[in-house]
Amino acid sequence: MSSKRAIVIGGGVAGLSAAAYLAKGGFEVTLLEKNASLGGRARQFSEEGFTFDMGPSWYWMPDVFEKFYNDFGFTTSDFYDLRRLDPSYSVVNKQGEAIDIPADKLELEALFERIEPGSALKLREFLKEAAYKYEVGINDLVYKPSLSLLEFADIRLLKGLLKMDVLTNMRSHVKKTVKHPFLQELLEFPVLFLGALPQNTPALYSLMNYADMDLGTWYPMGGMYKIIEAFEKVAKKQGVKFGLNQDVISFNYSGSKIIGVNTSTDSYEADVVVGAGDYHHLDQNVIEKKYQSYSATYWDSRKLAPSCLLYYVGVNKKIKGLLHHNLYFDTDFNLHSKEIYTTPKWPEKPLFYASAPSVTDKTVAPEGKENLFLLIPIAPGLKGDDEAIRKKYFDEMIARIEKQTGESFANDICYVKTYSVSNFVSDYYAFKGNAYGLANTLDQTAILKPSLKSKKLENLFFAGQLTVPGPGVPPSIISGKVAANQIFKEFGLIK
Ligand SMILES: Cc1cc2nc3c(=O)[nH]c(=O)nc-3n(C[C@H](O)[C@H](O)[C@H](O)COP(=O)(O)OP(=O)(O)OC[C@H]3O[C@@H](n4cnc5c(N)ncnc54)[C@H](O)[C@@H]3O)c2cc1C
Repeated sequence: MSSKRAIVIGGGVAGLSAAAYLAKGGFEVTLLEKNASLGGRARQFSEEGFTFDMGPSWYWMPDVFEKFYNDFGFTTSDFYDLRRLDPSYSVVNKQGEAIDIPADKLELEALFERIEPGSALKLREFLKEAAYKYEVGINDLVYKPSLSLLEFADIRLLKGLLKMDVLTNMRSHVKKTVKHPFLQELLEFPVLFLGALPQNTPALYSLMNYADMDLGTWYPMGGMYKIIEAFEKVAKKQGVKFGLNQDVISFNYSGSKIIGVNTSTDSYEADVVVGAGDYHHLDQNVIEKKYQSYSATYWDSRKLAPSCLLYYVGVNKKIKGLLHHNLYFDTDFNLHSKEIYTTPKWPEKPLFYASAPSVTDKTVAPEGKENLFLLIPIAPGLKGDDEAIRKKYFDEMIARIEKQTGESFANDICYVKTYSVSNFVSDYYAFKGNAYGLANTLDQTAILKPSLKSKKLENLFFAGQLTVPGPGVPPSIISGKVAANQIFKEFGLIK
């Protein structure tokens, strides 16, 4: 057992994961979080009887969560009641009809066949390939620290990489599978989680379709924050200590090592540090210039995943016709995507996402009321997210939901809180107000992502959505484990 002191900066999913693994490996761990509660982008708040998850709402890849719990001798049901949603979600098409996407594979194939005769078999093939990519990708590739290309040089992986469409893009891959525009959009939708356009995302990521259509969409009763509570319990059980309202503002150095971490109020000694806050902020604003791994120009040239306009809404009645997850793809995504990625501006007629967790979970809204979470993806760094612009999009979305469901509820709205670019910056020091970190484009994959290990400081490592393997709750969990394992290796605790 080592009694080395580890400081983990950031109490989001990645920081909690790294802290738990490090403590299990024998480190004396203190996790410092700038905000008053843990969870980072996955925080939760309650107002007027409603309980709102602030960020993630899609529980995908339950196997990754289960593996985390298993690593500490637990299982998912030790912490929460996880339910599979059926239908998984609905997609509103260009004609304004909501198409429910069934959880059952045969029903899903039947839906494909109805829309495009002959497509059921093609879907089956597509998902078989996606299953292979998931197996190699999630069990092997994402656990590589990506510090050197040599890590990918074993035969199984090399063979795998060839079969994994790393050099084709998602759009071409999907177009080869189905012709109908609705089915194409449906197969491209999971790529939106990766923060880049289908044409810029390697077809490797059809593994996300396997996650969607085979592994399914799940929900922890009580809300997504159950994950954070569970991670906190796991970490505490390993002996992790927590410091809330502890904004890390600088380090003390000796040679090329960090020996101390300073917050606005306290100082902590450290043998090793994991930066699991926003990587750009730590690298550019906390670390002394001569120790920074990257230049301002490097950061500026990164392609970020979108930011978003978010609304947490309480409604005084139930809204018939809404599922737990509803994708409003009733507008032209090509135009909206240009407004996010090519010529960043406030979108003219955006697609959006509406979640109503109160459809599944009575505990998140008072009886007879609906809890709504609305999200419009927007370009990172957009200026002017003032009250007027937030109100304009809010009114438009409510009108579109009313029209599509045939339920009027604008006058029954009893609570609204909005959240956007400037809030991401002030709450998390998010670079350009990004919501999901870096886009998963080919030139920002694996060794081409900001490195999990500092280039200048021997005992500084990074975890979280801006380093490997990428954005999303499951990858952030994995990133904490990969950072901890790299530390064990460098401290001679594992080979
Ligand atoms: C609106 C939204 C919807 C999303 N939807 C989904 C979804 O449905 N499914 C999914 O899987 N993923 C989703 N994601 C992505 C997912 O939430 C993130 O990828 C993941 O939570 C990131 O975890 P993290 O630990 O890397 O970062 P964060 O959650 O940002 O945690 C970093 C923490 O570090 C703290 N910090 C930063 N700087 C300092 C400092 N100097 N000192 C101390 N503390 C500091 C921050 O306050 C923060 O708490 C969504 C994200 C958003 C924003």
